Formats: sequence, C-alpha cells, structure tokens
Amino acid sequence: MVHEPEAGRSGEALLLEAALQTIPFGFCVWSPDFSLLLWNQRYLDIYGFPRATIVRGMNLRDVVALSCRMGNHPDLDPDVFFASYRQQLLSNRAGLRAISHELAAGGRTLETAHVYAQGLGWVVTHEDVTEEIARSDMLAERKRELELQYALVDATINNISHGVSMFDAQFRLVTCNRAFREMYGLSEEMGARGTAYATIIDHRIATGRHAPVDRDDFLAERRAIMAGGRFVREVIKTASGTYLSLRHQPLRGGGVVTTHEDITEQLAAEARMRHMATHDALTDLPNRALFREEIEKALAGPAAGRSFCLLSINLDNFKAINDADGHSLGDRVLVEAGQRLSQLIGAEGMVARLGGDEFAVLLTEGNPRRAADVARRAVKVLSKPYMFGARSAVLSASVGIAVAPGDGQSADALMNNADLALLRAKSEGRATYNFFEAGMDASLQRRRLLETGLRDAVERGELSLVFQPLIALATDTIVGAEALLRWSHPTLGAIAPSEFITVAEDTGAIHDIGAWVLLEATRTAAEWPAPLQVAVNLSPLQFKRPGLVEAVRSALSSSGLAPERLELEITESLLLDNSIANIETLFALRALGTRVAMDDFGTGYSSLSYLRAFPFDKIKIDRAFMGDIASRPESRAIVKAMIGLGTSLGMTTVAEGVETAEQLAVVRAEGCTQVQGFFHSPPVGASEISAMIRAGRRVQAANLTRAG
Ligand code: C2E
Ligand code: MG
Ligand code: MG
Repeated sequence: MVHEPEAGRSGEALLLEAALQTIPFGFCVWSPDFSLLLWNQRYLDIYGFPRATIVRGMNLRDVVALSCRMGNHPDLDPDVFFASYRQQLLSNRAGLRAISHELAAGGRTLETAHVYAQGLGWVVTHEDVTEEIARSDMLAERKRELELQYALVDATINNISHGVSMFDAQFRLVTCNRAFREMYGLSEEMGARGTAYATIIDHRIATGRHAPVDRDDFLAERRAIMAGGRFVREVIKTASGTYLSLRHQPLRGGGVVTTHEDITEQLAAEARMRHMATHDALTDLPNRALFREEIEKALAGPAAGRSFCLLSINLDNFKAINDADGHSLGDRVLVEAGQRLSQLIGAEGMVARLGGDEFAVLLTEGNPRRAADVARRAVKVLSKPYMFGARSAVLSASVGIAVAPGDGQSADALMNNADLALLRAKSEGRATYNFFEAGMDASLQRRRLLETGLRDAVERGELSLVFQPLIALATDTIVGAEALLRWSHPTLGAIAPSEFITVAEDTGAIHDIGAWVLLEATRTAAEWPAPLQVAVNLSPLQFKRPGLVEAVRSALSSSGLAPERLELEITESLLLDNSIANIETLFALRALGTRVAMDDFGTGYSSLSYLRAFPFDKIKIDRAFMGDIASRPESRAIVKAMIGLGTSLGMTTVAEGVETAEQLAVVRAEGCTQVQGFFHSPPVGASEISAMIRAGRRVQAANLTRAG
C-alpha cells in the first residue's frame, strides 16, 4: 500500500500491503466522499503518477486533474471527466462490478472496474488492456476476412456452371455446389454435409444420371482413383444419354474434389462442327476432304491392294439451268441428284459432292464390270426429269471411272484420272461413261486449249461459216443453205463443231458465238437472191438465257434479211426438258416471222411426241438413216414413215446426209421435199456458195460440185 508513511503499522496491514503490491493491476479505494484511501504501486505506474504526488485523503477532483496533466484522458476536459466519473461511482452502489474503458497517455487503453463496498467505498481496479484489445481487434479482423473468403468461395462454387463436390476419406460429402445438386437431381438434404457417396450413386442410378455400369464396380473404381492420388479425367455416358466429364483431384489427406461437367451440348456442337467440316452444306453429302480421306483409307487401310473404283460424275449442262432458272432451282436439282445417287449406291460405297455439279462415288467392292453397271445406272437416274411443283429441269450426266490400284496409287492420281475419263465421256456426247485410259492427259490438255481458245475466238476472227446447199427435189434447185460453223485454232488448226460446240456450251461461250453466227449467216444470206433461205443451228443452251429472241431480231434488222428467209434449227434435246419457257421462246421466234426446223429427227427417243409440242415448219431426217436406205427395206420403211408423217402435218421434209445417187433416188421416190448432203455439195465457203447460186437457179444435181 502506498500512502503516507505511518508509524506502528500492524502485522495485518503489512500483509495487506504485500498482497496489494503483488496483484498485476492498478488498485485503489475511494471513500464514499471521494477521498483516496488506498492504492498500490501499479496504480501509480498505470497513470504515470510520480510517487510524491499521490497522498492519502486526496480528493477525486485533484487526482483526476493530475491524471489529465499526466497526459491521460487526452480527449476529455478534466472537469467534465471528473463529473462523469463521480456520477459513475455514485450510480454504482448496489455491489455490482461496473466496467468502463478510458484512454491513457501513450495511446494506451485502460479498463477500470469498480465495486462498491458498504462502509468502505469503491474498490477500483485499473488494467492496461491495450494489447488485449489489439489482439482481439486482430482476431475480429481475421474472422471477418475468413468470413469474407468463405462467402467468396461459397459464391464462386455456387455460381460456376460445373458441379463441384468434395468427399472425405470415408466417402462422405464434405461440400458440393448448386450445379452438382442440380446435375444429379439431389435434394437439399441429400446435398448436405455427411451424405454417403453410395447414397448419391444409388440416387443417380435410380434417376438415370449414371453410367449403365455395375454400382459396386463403380464405387470400387472411385476408391482406386482416391488411393491413386493422381488427377483423373473421365467421361461417362449416362443411362439417359447425356455425357458427363468428371475430373477427380484426390486430396493428400484422403478424400477427393471432383468437378462435374455436362458436355452433351459441347460434344454435339463438336460433332456438328466435324460434320460441317467434312460435309457439303447443301446436299449433306461427304465433301472432297472426307472423300479423299476415304480413298486414302481404301488405299492404305486393311483392305490395301484390293481393287476399288472411283466414279467422277458431272451433270451435263447444269450451268445452263443455273443461269436460266436461278440458283434455287439449281440447288434443288443438286440436292435431288445427290439423293438419287445415294439411293443408287446405298451401302456399296460413298457418294460425295466435290463442288458445283461435281459428284463422286467410291465403290468399295469395285471391279470394272460392276463400276460400268453403276455408271450406266447413275447416268440413267440422274437423267430422269427433276420435278419441283410447276418447275422442272432435265439434264443428263457423264461419268468417268478410275479403277484402283491400277489407275493410280494416290487419292489425287485416282481422282484426277477419273476426271480425265469424265472429260472424255463429255466430249463423246455426254450422258455416257468412260473408263480412264493412259494418254487421256493429252486429250485433257487439248480440251483446256479449246476452253481458253474459245473465250476470244470471236474477237480474234478465228470463226468462220461454211454453207451447205439445200436442194428442192421438185425443181432440183438450191433453195437455201445451212450455215455450219468452223473454227481455225491458231495452233491446233481446223476444229470440228462436234468437238468444240460442247466445250462452248460448257463454258458459256456459246452465247457470244451463237450471236455471231446469227449475224454472219444473215449478212451472207442477205446477198443471195430472195427467197433463198439460210438455216442456222441453235444450241439448246442459247434458250437458257434471255436475249435469244433479241439476238435474232437484231441480226435480222442489221442484215436486212427478211425474217421468213431465216430458218432456225433446233434439236429435240431442247424439248426434252419440255419447259414452258423454251416453247414460249420458240413461239416468240416464230412470231418474228422466222421458220423453225427440227434437226436430226428420228435419233431421239421421243421425236414424235415433240411434234405436238410445237408446229415445226420442217423436219430434217438424220443422216444416220441414209446409210443403208438403199439396201435395207427396214430403213427405207422408217424413212418413208417419217416423210409421210411430216407431209401429213404440212411440214417440209429434208433428208440429210445424202451421199449417193441411190439414196437420192429412194428419198425422192418416197416423196421427200428437200435433200442435203455430199452428193450435191459439202459445206463450202461464202463466195463459193454465192457462185453456186449465181451459176443458175435451175441446176441439175449432176452439175453441182460432188462431195469429195
Ligand atoms: P447438223 O446441223 O446436223 O449439220 C449437218 C452436219 O452433217 C454437218 O457437220 C455437215 O458437214 C454434215 N454433213 C452434211 N452432209 C453430209 C453427208 O452427206 N454425209 C456426212 N457424213 N455428213 C454430212 P458439221 O459441219 O461437222 O456439223 C456438225 C454439227 O455441229 C451440226 O450438225 C450441228 O449440230 C453443229 N453445228 C454446226 N454449226 C453450228 C452452229 O453454228 N451452231 C450450233 N449451235 N451448232 C452448230
Ligand atoms: Mg443442222
Ligand atoms: Mg442434222
């Protein structure tokens, strides 16, 4: 006890003082009238009171003032603090322990607790709690941080789309997120901490959210994963058909954290992408890339060395349909063509669309005989009319065949050679097939030369017309001539129209060339005495683009040729696709005043029915019938029938390709109106035909130039 030194202190007093000095906090006693009765050293230390400043009986106001002077209660006025402290003491006289905090010098916090003891006054303890408070502040802070982190983790795992689960070493659920519960249809309760893994598996099996595997095997596998201690990824297909990707990360102390992802959509999207990369968008057939792959497989796979066949298929004149009727019809034709091919080939191989109107077939079990048969049938099914409501299209197809491994050791070589064979088929009049033969490259090169050469053959003046007279049998005079096109290629020389017209049709050059022929033929014929006629051949392709009627009209007006002196020759292939547009164009041409002839009559398979579609002015009986007309009664009978038919329909009939006097005699006897052929004259140049015409309107056949 620190107080005025006092003589004669009792033994108890000394004992009390020793006890007071040992307690670890400041201690003092205030009498009911607020004078200081007792204190210890710690009390002086806590407030920084020099020993001599505190004396027994000192009143509270002075001690408070001293304390303030020592730097304590820095935020308080000494009088205000005294008043409030005094009030605190006064209001605490029921024997309870009242605690308050005050600030002391040096930024310390003191905790003061006082209890009122009847008859004695207030016993007060003072404790420096600065560190304790700092510690508890720190703990509170730490706790807040942990709570925040926990909330963050919680929010995160609940918001990620993957399911997350954590099981302990005993296979009991530690935690999981919402996605996990939803993915497996777990109730709130089942997703709670402590649920056994087996319970969840049983629930998944019962609801189809589990791989159709044995439950116990599955559990054993999971245990193995945990024991393995290594990251494992697995994809399971559930009984209901969804795909789940699971990533297991075993924990060091046992247990496993797993992410669960439903990848059904993702796999489907990937499959779609894969499909898109390997299939043609329009027809959904395999594309070139997949087709090549398949050929490579056939070449190098387990069946390597076995023979297989490649068919390169092209639609003839497809370009014309696209040009004339718009892409939507063209697209529908392509789709249908693809379907027809797929149906034909079935499981025997693969059908692919390589681009444009190019299709291809891989016959896996192919021998040449089989390939020829398939090619023949492909041409047939693709040549059937394409009907889409009121719209229709007719086209044919050509096929080139390469047989592996003889015709090529690589996919590229095989495809290339099948293409060469295809080109040969095309140049052989289309609607047919051809096998690859060595040396076809040369013919391909020739075709390429023709294609590029045709592009500006008109401008370069390489085209010319020859004229072949038409003789009226009644008078044996020239009544007109057919204009026939010739091309003199700068390096390849003279090229027959049978070779280059198809190329011009394929490349579209036919339109310019056709217009040129019309102009040139009408100009030449305008020099001839009326009513001599000129016949001009029209390609069916020229009908596919608007502008034909205009081209004819402008040729007539610029040449000054009377329309009835122009005869337009069409082949029945034009009517094959029986389109209303084509018939209308024919009528429009007729309306100009021109005449219309059907060329090569009798060679197609329905020439007769076409005679009803349009009232032709003339039919030209194909020269194929002339060959044995003098020797075979059947041929003669057919020609006779055709002439009879034409005559009865009021049409002029022409026999083409009359080469001999015998042939002439027969057709004359059967009542044919006109003849054309080498017997009278081969096609000749413009000046020569003029000379022939000038030489006499009444020229006997014998006087005309003989075929040479
Ligand atoms: P086409 O219209 O039937 O023409 C008759 C063809 O038969 C001509 O062949 C002609 O030279 C040939 N020829 C005439 N008399 C005889 C004969 O007594 N015996 C034999 N064996 N042949 C004879 P060319 O000039 O080679 O024309 C072939 C085809 O090319 C023509 O057949 C025609 O379809 C087409 N063509 C010719 N010029 C044109 C043209 O300007 N435009 C179009 N689109 N096609 C044309
Ligand atoms: Mg002709
Ligand atoms: Mg003809």
